[in-house]
Amino acid sequence: MDRNVAVIGSGIGGLSAALDLQTKGFQVDLYEKNAFTGGKAGCEKGGGFTFDTGPSLLTMPFVFEDLLKKAGIEARDVMPVRKLDIICKYFFSDGTVLNAFSDQERIIEEFREKTSDSPEDIRRFFNYCRRMYEDAKDLFLFNSLEDIPEFFRENPLKGIAIISGLDIFRTLHGSHRRFFKDSNTVQLFDRYATYSGSDPYLIPATLNIIPHVEYGIGAYVPEKGIRAIPRVLAETATAKGVRIFTGQKVDSVIVGNKDIRGIRSCGREVPYSKVVSNADVSYTYKYLLDDRVTKMARRYDKLEPSSSAIVFYWGIKGIFSELEINNIFFSSDYRKEFREIFLERSCPEEPTVYVNITSKYCPEDAPEGHENWFVLVNVPYDTGQDWEREALRIKARVLDILERRLKKDITGNIIYERIMTPCDIYEKTLSNKGSIYGISSNSKFAAFFRQPNRSVDYKGLYFAGGSAHPGGGMPLVALSGMIASELIARN
Ligand SMILES: Cc1cc2nc3c(=O)[nH]c(=O)nc-3n(C[C@H](O)[C@H](O)[C@H](O)COP(=O)(O)OP(=O)(O)OC[C@H]3O[C@@H](n4cnc5c(N)ncnc54)[C@H](O)[C@@H]3O)c2cc1C
Repeated sequence: MDRNVAVIGSGIGGLSAALDLQTKGFQVDLYEKNAFTGGKAGCEKGGGFTFDTGPSLLTMPFVFEDLLKKAGIEARDVMPVRKLDIICKYFFSDGTVLNAFSDQERIIEEFREKTSDSPEDIRRFFNYCRRMYEDAKDLFLFNSLEDIPEFFRENPLKGIAIISGLDIFRTLHGSHRRFFKDSNTVQLFDRYATYSGSDPYLIPATLNIIPHVEYGIGAYVPEKGIRAIPRVLAETATAKGVRIFTGQKVDSVIVGNKDIRGIRSCGREVPYSKVVSNADVSYTYKYLLDDRVTKMARRYDKLEPSSSAIVFYWGIKGIFSELEINNIFFSSDYRKEFREIFLERSCPEEPTVYVNITSKYCPEDAPEGHENWFVLVNVPYDTGQDWEREALRIKARVLDILERRLKKDITGNIIYERIMTPCDIYEKTLSNKGSIYGISSNSKFAAFFRQPNRSVDYKGLYFAGGSAHPGGGMPLVALSGMIASELIARN
């Protein structure tokens, strides 16, 4: 068996695939168009501040522990993580402020005190989320889609029980309305739709596995910031023998008779019989394979991308002790906000604002007496909007919301600013229309439509990343890389 593999892209999915394959005895060459590795999980410095440019919250850290362990590394030695006591501080439009403690008894008490929902309601909901996660994880998260038919052949009754327990026919919002009386509780749990870049009024209630991931397993941050994840993966991969070529865009994948023959990059052709694409699936079909005809190529041309984001990276003078590491300022009309993002494809008039401050746990990320604010607003994917103008409009709305809710001047305390729009996300990672989580899950069967990690059309082509199975978000893209690696090893 030819043991040379090319990986296109050094997002967390690409790095995970490369490391896992090299650990399994393959020789991996990883090509990355940027001068740096990590893709969306990037890092930037400016004005004395350091910012993680993309993800801010780590869930399922055991995925990275397993990946590194297979390579002979203890994650706690190279990438210690810290469990957050307060996962997020929620500021509701009616003035209610609720701390989402990671301790289940404390958060249940917080809901009892601040909402009209009873501890029994919250417990019943957490149990339902845990059951769904336990049922779905092996079939839909940790393994290849290829294994599902065999599972159903061998365990038909169990398979049917799992599918019917996934609550596919209700929306996320619909299920929360059934569990809770208080509209603030409903809004808090509806927000998890944004973890897959989707709309809570459309996405199936199956996504309720996420509250279990966050409250049952826990929410974490690496002590040295999210940037530690791609850095450790790239360093470990290099130490194991992966050759990482940064600044080398792959222009096309060479195919002969539907067999992978190699890649073309920087005017050179390099032969490979196996290629893992960590590039966006639709980009892979359109530009790397020049394929507009196979079933998956046509499907990905039509599937709705996930939402995108405008992010303000602000260096702030002063310390805001009323804020936690993660803070959400909810809009007063969530339904309208999602209608604007997904149906009207316009930026929300009154956005929900997420503020993440890593200098609260990584003091070196900001000069003394200052904080580094990562301020994110969900917006539609790029359909040609004037993003410069939109960013200025959103900035004014965000400042108005934050200053009114915190009753403090923020505008005058911004001493550094950089802005990222959906266009910048596209430029940086070539994700479809600047989407941040691959495809949206706004339809009942979206999870089943995802690109499997092994191509059925091209022998030797594999996919790893947020737009392929099992989906977006750091632990899932790492799983996607590990599943692709496992399929290559299986041959
Ligand atoms: C603002 C923001 C906030 C987020 N918040 C969270 C969060 O809190 N928690 C969480 O878990 N997830 C979060 N995510 C999502 C998470 O970042 C992504 O799901 C994940 O990092 C995507 O990894 P990936 O493997 O799909 O690759 P990507 O990060 O998309 O990287 C793909 C890489 O491939 C390279 N590439 C593409 N085409 C080529 C080519 N032709 N040749 C060479 N190289 C190529 C690109 O340059 C890029 O480096 C967030 C994302 C963003 C943008």
